[in-house]
Amino acid sequence: MRRPLVIGNWKMHLGPRDAEALVRAVDEGRLSSNEAQAGVAPPYISIPAVSACLANSELLLCAQNMHQEEKGAFTGEVSAAMLTEAGVKMVLLGHSERRTLFGETDEQIGLKVAAAAARGLVPVLCIGETEEQRDRGETLEVVGRQLAAGLGDMPVSDGSELVVAYEPVWAIGTGRTATPEQVDEVHRAIRGMLTEHRGAVAAGGVRLLYGGSVKPGNARELFSLADVDGGLIGGASLEARSFLDILFAARTE
Ligand code: PEP
Repeated sequence: MRRPLVIGNWKMHLGPRDAEALVRAVDEGRLSSNEAQAGVAPPYISIPAVSACLANSELLLCAQNMHQEEKGAFTGEVSAAMLTEAGVKMVLLGHSERRTLFGETDEQIGLKVAAAAARGLVPVLCIGETEEQRDRGETLEVVGRQLAAGLGDMPVSDGSELVVAYEPVWAIGTGRTATPEQVDEVHRAIRGMLTEHRGAVAAGGVRLLYGGSVKPGNARELFSLADVDGGLIGGASLEARSFLDILFAARTE
């Protein structure tokens, strides 16, 4: 049984003070019997403030990116070891903004996934097609290529070591959510590809998140799909009420 997971990607929003206020509001709001797991991914600079707030919390601290090397002359970068030392448990890798705005390649993302896993961080491998690729009928091919390259040789045993987020690029930050039929088709395909790559047990344990304009009003329908195990939430995670409403839509009971 995969426990649903909802992660808020705060992107380049919320410095330490505002991040602390939001994480406190989210953590307090979670006091209900909600069984879905929740995580937040603040900007690097706000990680220590959020980490201090989460010392006795089940809320998962996530990062938005990392460098694949352990240390060295990589100005502006942060390593997996630094993230774990700061209390980070999961790290988003291959987000479409990293791919398109910062030129990250499939190969580099594969190296990052391997480095994260080697340090005990759970990679949240983000994959998804552009609108042009979807229009050309290439969605499953693109997602398959990104998945295979991102996974590389990373060992996966029961699936808890990995999260995959399917985020169609055309749905991120646009208000255009993929339809349940589109999400269902791609998530089923990803589960099938994981089965081919790592076997049924591993594939059955990997949580597959949908991301792309998830809001309180559409979360329940998307999260009810068999192969959707929660969501990666951008804009709607910046406000405690909407993030909590999405989180409650992923509850298991
Ligand atoms: C994201 O950035 O991962 C995302 C899904 O953003 P939004 O929810 O704003 O579309």
